[in-house]
Amino acid sequence: MAQVERQQWDVVVVGAGGAGLRAAIEARERGARTAVICKSLFGKAHTVMAEGGIAASMGNVNDHDNWQVHFRDTMRGGKFLNQWRMAELHAKEAPDRVWELETWGALFDRTPDGRISQRNFGGHEYPRLAHVGDRTGLELIRTLQQKIVQLQQEDFKEYGDHEARLKVFQECTVTRVLKDGARVSGTFCYERESGRFFVLEAPAVVLATGGIGKSFKTTSNSWEYTGDGHALALLAGAPLLNMEFVQFHPTGMVWPPSVKGILVTESVRGDGGVLRNSEGERFMFDYVPDVFKEKYAESEEEGDRWYEDPDHNRRPPELLPRDEVARAINSEVKAGRGSPHGGVFLDVSTRMPAERIKRRLPSMYHQFKELADVDITAEPMEVGPTCHYVMGGIAVDSDTAATVGVPGLFAAGEVAGGMHGSNRLGGNSLSDLLVFGRRAGLHAAGYASEGGARPVVSQEQIDAAAAEALAPFHAAEGAENPYTLHQELQTTMNDLVGIIRREAEMAEALERLAALRVRAARAGVEGHRQFNPGWHLALDLRNMLLVSECVARAALERTESRGGHTREDRPAMEREWRPVNLLCRPVDPPPADPAADRIVLVRTRTEPIRPDLLALFEKEELAKYLAEEELCE
Ligand code: FAD
Repeated sequence: MAQVERQQWDVVVVGAGGAGLRAAIEARERGARTAVICKSLFGKAHTVMAEGGIAASMGNVNDHDNWQVHFRDTMRGGKFLNQWRMAELHAKEAPDRVWELETWGALFDRTPDGRISQRNFGGHEYPRLAHVGDRTGLELIRTLQQKIVQLQQEDFKEYGDHEARLKVFQECTVTRVLKDGARVSGTFCYERESGRFFVLEAPAVVLATGGIGKSFKTTSNSWEYTGDGHALALLAGAPLLNMEFVQFHPTGMVWPPSVKGILVTESVRGDGGVLRNSEGERFMFDYVPDVFKEKYAESEEEGDRWYEDPDHNRRPPELLPRDEVARAINSEVKAGRGSPHGGVFLDVSTRMPAERIKRRLPSMYHQFKELADVDITAEPMEVGPTCHYVMGGIAVDSDTAATVGVPGLFAAGEVAGGMHGSNRLGGNSLSDLLVFGRRAGLHAAGYASEGGARPVVSQEQIDAAAAEALAPFHAAEGAENPYTLHQELQTTMNDLVGIIRREAEMAEALERLAALRVRAARAGVEGHRQFNPGWHLALDLRNMLLVSECVARAALERTESRGGHTREDRPAMEREWRPVNLLCRPVDPPPADPAADRIVLVRTRTEPIRPDLLALFEKEELAKYLAEEELCE
């Protein structure tokens, strides 16, 4: 029997990025005793990497902007597969969340007349991204962290204990969501440094664990992105939604190899940077798809004029949504017009004075200088697509962030699905974190205070979770190395379920994943539980394999191309697929044989879009997206 410390809380928030911290603040302010738990140091979550900004239609730079325009842009970007109610709430509430951040101490860049400055980004009709240079995520996390410390200081005054009602467990990992019957009862966790197990008992758990990028070889994502929350939800019985949609950001570094995949922010293009091929052509003009033709410039002259006079010119095609730009770069490289290291050229040096580049894009200047010895004020960058964001995620109720079928389990931020449809617009994640982080905290606290008997964590579940976590120390002869397995997984996903997909390759990926699962069941590590990165990776592998299976299975099922899912064998976006959601559910009971499929794929219909929201679009535009029967309705 595993003897582990148990602590009682009302709400446990797994993840201390933007979504988790905003959820925790809300839950605590609503009176719930709240624990936050995260794998990294407090303040070091992946959100700090966010560069370009946070999208909110405040209309500070162009007063034509409003929530309806933001809603329209988000739906277009997501190719109308967005959970429309989430897109509506997001567009309506994002400005308040940004103002709120400012009242909590965030220092945004200003317009000349002193308002919060907003910059252009792909797919956004007006300048909409509030920003702090190209370090917006850092400021967002700093502000939320400061707010948490302020709440803890209030608690100290009242209870003599800073952590009486809000405590952060940093450098700790959750390996299981625990349940009492159908409902949530807490989380099983370990300290990464000591390997010590402990349990946080709570009637409500919010998953805010971010994305899945570490399953792919070339990615902009940090080490934390191993799909833990996605897997925790599935293992607890909650389905995942539309996992085939993975965003490949068009501009990651391609050289040198050690930094391949690191992000080159979209702000570079938003501020005037242009993409050229090896022949010096601004090739994006050749890649404007029909659905966007009316909104984008036809000539370089018009595109350039737009930066000065956006009301009388159309935007340059470098600012198309990310999926379009990533595919275009891929095509140029494939056609032999790439840069020396397999990307294309992104140039700001001929577009802006050096001083302006250093002021507007300080991180990019240093990133290229230090990592690639390239001075972006004097020469172009080489860039190519990199796995960046997952639109698919835990299926949630739009208003409450509650998961499906597991009472007490909530999800917010990148781990939750629906908001971005098949493709996220840049800047819409930071606003998503705040809007739905707040909502998750609000409803988790409400659920936890509903009364009734607290759920019970059984010793049996604790023993099972402890045995599962310790298994890598007991691997038999011929144990598999977790690092080797991880590399093979990343290669499989990158090569076979990457930016351009083909039926036979995805089927092969599923076979390889099954073989990797069998080997991962024998993953073994040496040494002790005290800080042991090999052990941590062995535990993360379970999650990455499970999530990768979902991505590959859903990608094989959706026989069309849409947003972040591009199939060479089915290149068109097909209107009949518009109202189709693909849900990944866990096989119940879980199969004992690791080679067996663990996911069942279920097709469901999307909820019809509310008529007043449909009325925000021209009929001709809707006809390009909606299925025949939806148009008739
Ligand atoms: P995160 O910030 O990733 O936080 C996840 C948390 O969960 C972490 O604290 C982690 O430790 C914890 N965690 C994970 N698993 C476990 C576990 N098993 N147990 C305990 N804790 C766990 N979006 C924009 O809108 N604008 C931008 O300008 C922008 N720039 C970006 C730049 C880069 C380089 C990248 C990679 C992304 C960018 N994005 C941007 C996307 C955006 O940053 C992310 O989508 C967003 O930060 C995710 O926030 P989150 O709160 O969901 O998760």
